[in-house]
Amino acid sequence: MTKTALDFFWVWVLLGMSKHLFGQDKLPICGTTALYQGDTAAYREATVRTLSTARKAAVDPNTIFTLPVVFVVYHLGEPVGTGSNVSDNVLNAGLNEMNDLFRARNNFAGLNDAKIQFARVQNDNKCNVATGIVRVNASGVPNYTSNGLANGDNVMLQALRALHNWNDRSSYITIELVHKLNNAAGFAGYLGGDVVIDAPSYWWGLMAHEMGHCLDLRHTFEGDNGGSQCPTNTNPETQGDLISDTDPHKNGDRCANFSESSINPCSGVAFGKLLRNIMSYNGPCWDRFTPKQIERMRNSLVNFKPQWTNSQAILSPPTIPNAPSVSSANILTGQKATLTVSNCVGTVAWYNVASGGNSLSTHLTYTTPTLSVTTRYYVSCNVGGCLSNTRGVGTVTVGGCPPSITHTGTITAGSYNASQSIISTGRVGSGTKYYAGNSITLNAGFSTGANGNFVANIKNCPN
Ligand SMILES: [Zn+2]
Repeated sequence: MTKTALDFFWVWVLLGMSKHLFGQDKLPICGTTALYQGDTAAYREATVRTLSTARKAAVDPNTIFTLPVVFVVYHLGEPVGTGSNVSDNVLNAGLNEMNDLFRARNNFAGLNDAKIQFARVQNDNKCNVATGIVRVNASGVPNYTSNGLANGDNVMLQALRALHNWNDRSSYITIELVHKLNNAAGFAGYLGGDVVIDAPSYWWGLMAHEMGHCLDLRHTFEGDNGGSQCPTNTNPETQGDLISDTDPHKNGDRCANFSESSINPCSGVAFGKLLRNIMSYNGPCWDRFTPKQIERMRNSLVNFKPQWTNSQAILSPPTIPNAPSVSSANILTGQKATLTVSNCVGTVAWYNVASGGNSLSTHLTYTTPTLSVTTRYYVSCNVGGCLSNTRGVGTVTVGGCPPSITHTGTITAGSYNASQSIISTGRVGSGTKYYAGNSITLNAGFSTGANGNFVANIKNCPN
C-alpha cells in the first residue's frame, strides 16, 4: 500500500451499522490522511492536483470501468463466517451495494452514475483460477491477535501480507480485513490499490469511502486542520479536496445536526446535499459522489491505473494449453532440418532450451541452421495469455544414417547404416555389419574377406 494516506474517519456507531462499540462518535475511523506526510506523498499530491483540469479529454465519459478487487481476510483461525473470518455472503453483499452506489442503481437510483464498478478477480493474471476472496490465518503474526493492526504499523502490515501472494496492487485492488484496526475503521492509499478495513466495521459505506480515497478522492473537509478552521477554498481545484463542486466544510458537520437548508458557515450557503457525500464523515447519510468527484476518479484511473481499467484478472481464465507436438528429423552432418508443430490453437514459440531463452520463431514450421550434432528444439503454446506448462520437443538427429548406401570395390570392415537400403557388390572386410531400414541387396561380386564374418540386418537406423 502506499502507506501514505490514512485519513481517519469517525466511527459512525450512531447508526448501529458498525458492531464496533467505540462508545462515542468521535473516534477516528479513517486513517487515510495521516498516511500522507512523506516526500513521496507530496510528490504524488502535486501530480494529482493537476488532474482536475489537465487531460480530462482523455476520458470517455461513457466508458464503464470494471475494476478488479481481491478480498483478503486476516482472521484468527475462526471458522468461515465467525468473528473476524467474515463470510463470503457478507463480503459480497457489501460489494454489491458499493457497486449500486457507484452505478447509481437500486437504493441510489437517480443519483450520479460514476460508471465505475468492482468485480472480484477470477484469475491471478497467471492463468490460475481465483475466487477473489483470500483467507489467511494471521494469528501467528506477532502481536496481531492481542493488539490488532495499529494505524500506520507498516511492519505488522507487511507481516500480514507475507502470508499470501496477492500483493500485486498494480494489477488489482486489495480490500483487506483485519480483525481489529486501532484508531480507525479503515484507510486507503491514494491510487495505492489498498483498502484496509476493520473487519467488525465492514459495510458497503465504509468500503465505498475508502475506495473513494483509493480512486484519488480527499475528504470533503480536507484542509480543516482537524476541524479547527474552514478549509481554504479560493481555488477549489487546487485547495481543500481539490473538487470544485463540493463546498468546504468541517469534518464535525453531521447530517443529524444540519438540514439541507442550514447555512454552512464555511461557504455561507446552504449545505444542500454536501453532508450526504461519501467523502464526508456522515455514514448514516452517505449516498453519493458529485460529478466532479466522479470526473477526478475517472481521470486518475485513465492517467495512472490503466492496469486496473483493462484488467484480465476479472475474466474467467482460459484453459492452460498442453505442450504442443513437434516433429523430429534425421539429417546428415551439415544439413538443415525443417520441423513442424501441431496441437496448438494459439501462438507457438520455438526455443533451443527447455525453459527460458529467447524465441527463435513463432511460425508453425521452423527450419534449423546447419547442424553438426543432434539438437533438440522446444515449442511453447500460448492461448489467450495462458502458456503451456511445458514445451513440446522435436529432435533433429545428426550424422546417423543416409537413406541409401552403394558399395563397390574394396570396403573397409565396419558398421554401415542406411535408413532405407544398402546395395553392395563390394569386397567387404571381415566383421562388416550392414544395417538398413528396408532392404539389403548383395549382388554378384560381393564377398566378405578371408574369415567371412559378416552381418546383415534389417533394422531402423541405430542413430
Ligand atoms: Zn477517509
